[in-house]
Amino acid sequence: MDISYILNELGEDREQYFNAISPPIMQTSNFAFKKVDELRQTFKDESTRYIYSRGINPTVDILRKKLAALDGAEDCLVFNSGASAIFCAVLANVKSGDHIVSVREPYSWAWRMFNNILPRFNVSVTYIDGTDTANFEKAIQPNTSIIYLESPNSFMFDLQDLKAVATLAKKNNITTICDNSYCSPLYQKPIETGIDLVLQSGTKYIGGHSDTVAGVLCGSHERINKIFQSEYLNSGAGITPFNAWLLIRGLRTLPARIDRITQTTYKVIEFVKSHPLVEKIIFPFDESFPQLELAKKQMKNACGLFTFILKVDSVEKIEKFCESLQHIMMAVSWGGHESLIIPKCASIERSDFDPTNQTHRAIRMYVGLEEAEYLIEDLRQGFDKM
Ligand SMILES: *Cc1c(COP(=O)(O)O)cnc(C)c1O
Repeated sequence: MDISYILNELGEDREQYFNAISPPIMQTSNFAFKKVDELRQTFKDESTRYIYSRGINPTVDILRKKLAALDGAEDCLVFNSGASAIFCAVLANVKSGDHIVSVREPYSWAWRMFNNILPRFNVSVTYIDGTDTANFEKAIQPNTSIIYLESPNSFMFDLQDLKAVATLAKKNNITTICDNSYCSPLYQKPIETGIDLVLQSGTKYIGGHSDTVAGVLCGSHERINKIFQSEYLNSGAGITPFNAWLLIRGLRTLPARIDRITQTTYKVIEFVKSHPLVEKIIFPFDESFPQLELAKKQMKNACGLFTFILKVDSVEKIEKFCESLQHIMMAVSWGGHESLIIPKCASIERSDFDPTNQTHRAIRMYVGLEEAEYLIEDLRQGFDKM
């Protein structure tokens, strides 16, 4: 399907709403019925007809169709956060006594679910280095029900060979879930490699303006409908019509933003890499990246996020650098219009800082929509002050 068709037309029925270009925000909790039997039939399956917006809603439906098509999936659910997409996707595929194999250091709230919530229900997790497919094979147990992936990871960008892991999982009747937030469906389509459920934080590139929190989950109609009927309706974690409308608006410009961010990222990386205070950079499409070949095999490109390791001997110097930046802000999240940094040393106590530990000296940068020169100048003066 043509991406221009997906983003501008698919799922939209303008004659239903006065030929408005932008779809209405169907801000309603409930829908009326004229016939008792229609109500009776809908009670049996809320996915077939509008009844209550915790289930399906017309504005949200437009978004679901577009996002499913972008991922090359049959169906999609949109949640009120990426974390709730993770929560429902995992919960729907485990029962007491089951086991999960996960990449080490998955997104923090996936990790917290695995460590803090699932053990109470007798579900255990083994974390592995996912850069080697053999590690998955070794970790699988007879009770393994999920393999949880994140490729690339959003700080150090470790990849997994999606096709190889999907094949292994299918052979063992295990559900694969992949967090695709880094790439967005424009740069990677895990469904096409055989992954069962692909998710992304819609807060990042889909929303694209740092004003909406959302999560996207795509898969086969059978898998998605099963989650809809149970975890989605039961948790009430679906996206609101207004936020769905904001994501539809974000989608209109997604390819233009990704193109621009990609061009700027390469320019900023060029500068950062050559700076004497930078030891190295970590970016999936950089010549120095250990998994470059795999990146090129399964991803179309990379953009936005990269990490650099500062050549410094004290945490104060890192703090000085971060606090000296005039335009690039210090904040979590990414995918919006604004460039951001986040230093790894903010996750540890100052007293625990170890200058021989590379990750302690790591800064993750997100490149937004500003001019490359504007960002480079800001970084340059930040390095100077450090
Ligand atoms: C932000 C993020 C999430 C969670 O999404 P929210 O919308 O913040 O709940 C999940 N995975 C990755 C890789 C993320 O960056």
